[in-house]
Amino acid sequence: TPIEKLTTQDAQQETARLQKQLVQYGTAYYEEDAPLVEDYIYDALYARLIALEEKFPQYVTPDSPTQNVGSADTKSELQKVVHPAPMLSLGDVFSLDELNDWDARTTKSLGNQAPYNLELKIDGLAVALTYVDGQLVQASTRGNGIVGEDVTANVKTIKAIPKKLTEPLTIEVRGEIYMPKASFAALNKQREADGLEPFANPRNAAAGSLRQLNVKITKSRNLAAFVYYTAEPDILGVTTQSGALERFAELGLPTDAHNRVINKMADIADYIDEYTSERENLSYGIDGVVVKVNQLDLQFDLGNTVKIPRWAIAYKFPPEEALTVVRDIEWTV
Ligand code: NAD
Repeated sequence: TPIEKLTTQDAQQETARLQKQLVQYGTAYYEEDAPLVEDYIYDALYARLIALEEKFPQYVTPDSPTQNVGSADTKSELQKVVHPAPMLSLGDVFSLDELNDWDARTTKSLGNQAPYNLELKIDGLAVALTYVDGQLVQASTRGNGIVGEDVTANVKTIKAIPKKLTEPLTIEVRGEIYMPKASFAALNKQREADGLEPFANPRNAAAGSLRQLNVKITKSRNLAAFVYYTAEPDILGVTTQSGALERFAELGLPTDAHNRVINKMADIADYIDEYTSERENLSYGIDGVVVKVNQLDLQFDLGNTVKIPRWAIAYKFPPEEALTVVRDIEWTV
């Protein structure tokens, strides 16, 4: 039913049902690394929930998935770590029209068209790395954004992540841990041979491999990483996102070199087109493109909501199964 045509009572019921259903899907996905439904179904239900909550804000609850990042895994035996600054998610769009709307809102808030840094959206899980005097001392997962899990010993098995920076900086940096396509294919082949359930996708495989009490398992999974963020850019002496990426590389941190700074919206469509076809040739999975306001002072002006930064947006590639979306949603809701 179109949202405008819903009675308040129907809207309340549907909102509550979707909140509950998406929390359940989130638990399976974030805590058990074993999704119950395909991402595009989750995304479509989530978009419907956002639209419902926008029209009927009285039914937004503090535990709605729209108000929370990821999931706090209360069953995990890994130690908990409180993040010095919250680790957020990203807002997402699924078409160029929606991306243009986001750009129009951003440009209006800033008063001018700001340059954007375009990055590939790596299909992995977020990690925070703390370096003290250049030494890696702690690594943690995003968890629910406020509290994550201590995966220091696990991360130390990942070759791509340096235990020592090239400069003795004290800084927290963040990025994505991922499983390269070749490792993912080999792992699932082995799991099937061993009679185990294969992982649904590289992201779940990376998360399941990182969040292990036995670090030998993590080590055997051949994970890799890219760093793309710090909440402490002053320590790096940078004023732009693209500048931060360059400094990360100088410090010996792994970065994805496919970013591009652009000055006009039309260039985003070219980048998206380019990587929609190029993605199959990359050695790691990507599920979209992230558009970030490049200037860090403008990022600061735009700020964040409780869940997402206003200065960035993820454009998600369409799923291969897109044609079945409508039918699936009607069936699921
Ligand atoms: P997300 O993965 O859509 O986007 C946010 C994340 O993108 C960040 O936290 C970061 O880890 C990552 N990222 C990758 N490359 C980046 C880059 N260059 N710059 C910045 N960040 C980058 O959001 P989410 O909150 O982690 O999860 C929502 C997603 O998970 C949805 O796509 C949804 O489909 C999926 N999900 C699926 C199910 C299911 O049941 N299938 C359940 C819950 C969530």
